[in-house]
Amino acid sequence: MKYGKQVSAGGVLFRPADGGYEVAVIRLSGGKVTALPKGLVDRGESPEETALREVREETGMEGELVAPLGYIRYYYYSKEEDTRYFKLVHFYLLRYRGGSERDHDWEVEGVEWMPLKEALQTLSYKGEREILERARDILEGAEGEDGRPDGRKRG
Ligand code: ATP
Repeated sequence: MKYGKQVSAGGVLFRPADGGYEVAVIRLSGGKVTALPKGLVDRGESPEETALREVREETGMEGELVAPLGYIRYYYYSKEEDTRYFKLVHFYLLRYRGGSERDHDWEVEGVEWMPLKEALQTLSYKGEREILERARDILEGAEGEDGRPDGRKRG
């Protein structure tokens, strides 16, 4: 068996909805897995650039950087490569700027806007649920202040 390391980056793409927020999640493995959009950081690319690119490619939608959300780590085994990978994934909070989930990547089964609270219970991986909790803390903490993360002005 071989050993390898991978670094990816992804995003929590959000927009205001029904007095709260909704976030874009992707469906994988025939819909059994619900996850955040992400992908490998290319050579010469910053994790922020990767997060914006992967969100654009996987969801069909454009985001703009609001804040870093930290990273998650896990190990997985690839049978095809007979390799055990250590993986680190950086996540960023991204404000929705435009585009449609109908233009999502054919490699993902689907893209869905989901209320933040529902996504906190639906994401398949614990690490991604913790990232989403951080996003919620930032979004809710900023409520009522100027320069809100959703870009709306007060009053
Ligand atoms: P990327 O989206 O970064 O290009 P990938 O699609 O090639 O990566 P992963 O999403 O890392 O690969 O999935 C590889 C394996 O790791 C799969 O078995 C998947 O179920 C598992 N996995 C994916 N995300 C997590 C996570 N957050 N925690 C634990 N295991 C995960």
